[in-house]
Amino acid sequence: MSLSQLARSIAESPTLRLNEEARILREKGEPVINLGIGEPKNKAPINAILQGAARLTSGDVKYTPTDGLPSLKKAIIRYTEETYDRLVAPENVIASDGAKQCLFNILFTLCNPQDEVVVLAPYWVSYPEIIRMCQAIPVIVTPEDGGFHPRFEEVVRAVGSNTKAIILNSPNNPSGAVYSDDFVGRMVEFCETKGIYLILDDIYQKLVFDGLRPKPGTAFTRADSESTKLIIVNGVAKLYGMTGFRVGWTIAPRELVRVMTNVQAQTTSCVSPAMQVAAEGALVGVQNVVESLRLTIQNNRDVLMQELRTFNGVKLRKPEGTFYALVDFRAYSNNSVELSNFLLKKALVVTVPGKEFGMEGHLRLSFAGTVKELQEAVARMKWALDPTSANEIYLGDRKLVRDWM
Ligand code: PMP
Repeated sequence: MSLSQLARSIAESPTLRLNEEARILREKGEPVINLGIGEPKNKAPINAILQGAARLTSGDVKYTPTDGLPSLKKAIIRYTEETYDRLVAPENVIASDGAKQCLFNILFTLCNPQDEVVVLAPYWVSYPEIIRMCQAIPVIVTPEDGGFHPRFEEVVRAVGSNTKAIILNSPNNPSGAVYSDDFVGRMVEFCETKGIYLILDDIYQKLVFDGLRPKPGTAFTRADSESTKLIIVNGVAKLYGMTGFRVGWTIAPRELVRVMTNVQAQTTSCVSPAMQVAAEGALVGVQNVVESLRLTIQNNRDVLMQELRTFNGVKLRKPEGTFYALVDFRAYSNNSVELSNFLLKKALVVTVPGKEFGMEGHLRLSFAGTVKELQEAVARMKWALDPTSANEIYLGDRKLVRDWM
């Protein structure tokens, strides 16, 4: 078949593929535990459901303005004012089908072929692929100390005359690391001096633990909404656990938003009005859902850490935010793809290979599920890998005996 070289070169999303594999196994009756996908178990906030449903029952489900319903934009402007201490105009806001489409639109709008976009490892799997879809080149900065916090000087070294933008994602998927205020501040100052765009993927912004209160990127600039080099990406997926609603938004200078709107108009036209109204419902409704989700996830993180501490050989770094831990399994294998496949086959636990995030030898474990699932999953993983753990295990009422060590 004659398909485009570019399209053929785009990798499948490993997290969505693993999710699908887990679903198929579950349908066959296998008791799979999915630590792959980043999706909390909560129901969407009631106000989101009621508003979205009311819009559907009204039958008024037509095209909306491409950049979003004015009422949704108003709610986004309020969120931005409260969270970033920055009053933006409706022309600085565009709503898209999830943060993923925001990122695609931003990079498609900014990049010429061969422009470079700097990405810090460990990174979200989709960044390099989206950058390449926009004909630009991902330049990966890997912390030399093997950790999760690239140093400012390492990032500066990766910047050259073709650098168009740098993406910062903190709290970070997949490591759960929160970058220091000092680092973010220096990045903002550096980008504004150099005239490089700094894309802040703030999708996990409210999911931080242990009383941490990182400052938003906007705290480090005096530039106004039009001259700033900061582009902010956000959405309802992780903020309210509304992943399937597919609503995200971008805050950027108006010229950028204007061109992004043209790009969106020629691809998806607009976000479904029912989903826009639902996102607005979440944003204007009671906000204690955000805190209760955060507390649940923090407790899950604590349970996962406690379970993993008794896992021989694995090296842990405590996530400071998000719902992911990137755990070092090099004591068992340097090949994270093989290890992840092995765990799925033997223990029916889905994990994501660290290789996908630029961290070979690690596995990303999502702790967005339930405490019971986390405990059971780690017990199964220990059984599959750690010879000092029990030789037998039950999957439901099926007894399994370890026979390969
Ligand atoms: N950025 C990061 C870092 C993410 O982890 C994700 C989702 N996993 C997204 C963006 C995309 O979010 P959305 O579901 O709103 O498209």
